[in-house]
Amino acid sequence: MPMTMRSLLHLHFSAPLPPCHRLLPKPLLIVPPTFFSKSPTGLPAFSSSSIFSFRSHCKVPIVHVDSPAQPRVAFGEIHVITGPMFAGKTTALLRRVLAEKNTGRNVAVIKSDKDTRYGLDSIVTHDGAKMPCIALPELSLFRERLGAEAYNKLDVIGIDEAQFFVDLYDFCCNAADRDQKTVIVAGLDGDYLRRRFGSVLDIIPLADSVTKLTARCELCGQRALFTQRKTSEKQTELIGGSDIYMPVCRQHYVDGQVVKEATRTILDIERIAV
Ligand SMILES: [Zn+2]
Repeated sequence: MPMTMRSLLHLHFSAPLPPCHRLLPKPLLIVPPTFFSKSPTGLPAFSSSSIFSFRSHCKVPIVHVDSPAQPRVAFGEIHVITGPMFAGKTTALLRRVLAEKNTGRNVAVIKSDKDTRYGLDSIVTHDGAKMPCIALPELSLFRERLGAEAYNKLDVIGIDEAQFFVDLYDFCCNAADRDQKTVIVAGLDGDYLRRRFGSVLDIIPLADSVTKLTARCELCGQRALFTQRKTSEKQTELIGGSDIYMPVCRQHYVDGQVVKEATRTILDIERIAV
């Protein structure tokens, strides 16, 4: 038995069971097929790039103490796809949303109206895939824009460029906990200085799964974890593509910072000399 599975079983059976579980005749571990294989969306449910996955715990049947025959009320789900620019986050988001749509679920995709590079009525990936969407300044406007009836019929909500939404946490809470929606969020975890960007990191405690994708370093082809800004602008929010940003590995990120610092020092010296 693999070490990870042995550890899981040990943890499951040795941890104190909540009262609702004590009604079961004996400890029961149900591992859904998606735990070890491809999920219905076509993406691995538990892979090396998936740093958290709590789905198996959610699928254990729970019987209420006061009404044993009544099934548990369904809740929504939150899945986060993050990483640097050019890592395929939007592609992964659209693939998962389309997979949900193909199973008959009602889907909608939201993006920030700050990014107007490809128009406001569709999401376009770097490799050209396209899907209709609603562009909004904040997520709290989504229900009103869509209409209450259409919102109630919705099963899945995709959110692209999530770092631009200041109300991301509240929206995800309400959509998954109260409205039973599956929310799939794609956004940057950090900015060009590797600081947290927007609220994407804040929703990780809410999430069923978190997937960190990587790109290819533009300078050496190794795994790229970070986004390097090519220009000297200082503001955090600077919308742009490969003209302004490039994905880099750790070594080239650090080297780039050293070069920038050296250039800045030389320019400062020249300015003082003039
Ligand atoms: Zn590199």
